[in-house]
Amino acid sequence: MAYRYLGNSGLKVSEITYGNWLTHGSQVESDVAERCVRAALDVGITTFDTADVYADGSAETVLGKALAGQDRDGLEIFTKVYFPTGAKGPNDTGLSRKHILRSIDKSLNRLGTDYVDLYQAHRYDVETPLEETIAAFADVVRSGKALYIGVSEWTADQLRAGQELAREAGFSLVSNQPQYSALWRVIEAKVVPTSEDLGISQIVWSPMAQGVLSGKYRPGAELPAGSRATDDKGGSEFIKRFLDDETLTRVQKLAPIADGLGIKMSQLAIAWVLANPNVAAALVGASRPEQIEENVKASEVTLEPDVLAAIDEALGDSVIS
Ligand code: NDP
Repeated sequence: MAYRYLGNSGLKVSEITYGNWLTHGSQVESDVAERCVRAALDVGITTFDTADVYADGSAETVLGKALAGQDRDGLEIFTKVYFPTGAKGPNDTGLSRKHILRSIDKSLNRLGTDYVDLYQAHRYDVETPLEETIAAFADVVRSGKALYIGVSEWTADQLRAGQELAREAGFSLVSNQPQYSALWRVIEAKVVPTSEDLGISQIVWSPMAQGVLSGKYRPGAELPAGSRATDDKGGSEFIKRFLDDETLTRVQKLAPIADGLGIKMSQLAIAWVLANPNVAAALVGASRPEQIEENVKASEVTLEPDVLAAIDEALGDSVIS
């Protein structure tokens, strides 16, 4: 496993990071979740991403239990704040001082740890003054409850404004967490160049387009049983955007490229996001331990320019930029 620095900070993270959205506390049972975490640790993954809102708090609880007994110093644990979790009162959402300072305590309690390595604003809050949000995050850092602060799905302008205020408050934003995959490249135009300028890394979610880039969904064929696309607890809702026949036909054109390199399509997809130097980590999900063992091998793959060009050619118009 290779490790990369998060933004301009001195924190190293495993370039393949295990995330537990839609799986822990929901799609898979706790024992499978624990086996996935164990598999991740065994292959050298030290960085784990969750959020208070995943499975309404249960994902944090399951991750905390699965990591119990591990050497805390050897782990990087990330969580997030913004969406309402549990209670749904008027102050149970967004990035107000009240919601941030209450939420960090609840997350630490569920995770069973006294600090998280990275605390992330899960979205930008247009209703709360950015000054208030940044001042609250500064207090979270000063209290030692989070070591670093990041954000998720912020625009280039929001990142610039946030970084300016953070530096005035005595800390830096180190990361942004956007969706990014060979099929979904929206950040390349503005977010990545701005982040490079600001010393912010991307920790990218759904690098495999939720499993679609593994090639297991075939045009015109039945959805594979036990996959996210058939998850009736909500997972199938989000993957639909990638399941049209045109996209799936294009994705199958990646199979000979992966074969030519002697790797799986899943590994090709993860190596593709890691080829972007502004990406610190690919946030990979897994519903079973074998997927982690397969996915982690992407860390050993370097894609040359001719391969990247062949991927562009294969995916053509199905890419969203
Ligand atoms: P991926 O694109 O990696 O999709 C993961 C899913 O693909 C798995 O759960 C599994 O689903 C399937 N899969 C994984 N490996 C393989 C394989 N080798 N072969 C075939 N299928 C495979 O990422 P996610 O969409 O899960 O997102 C990753 C993480 O990103 C989340 O856990 C979360 O931490 C973060 N995230 C952040 C968001 C944000 O707003 N900040 C939003 C969404 C996610 P199955 O087996 O069920 O088909």
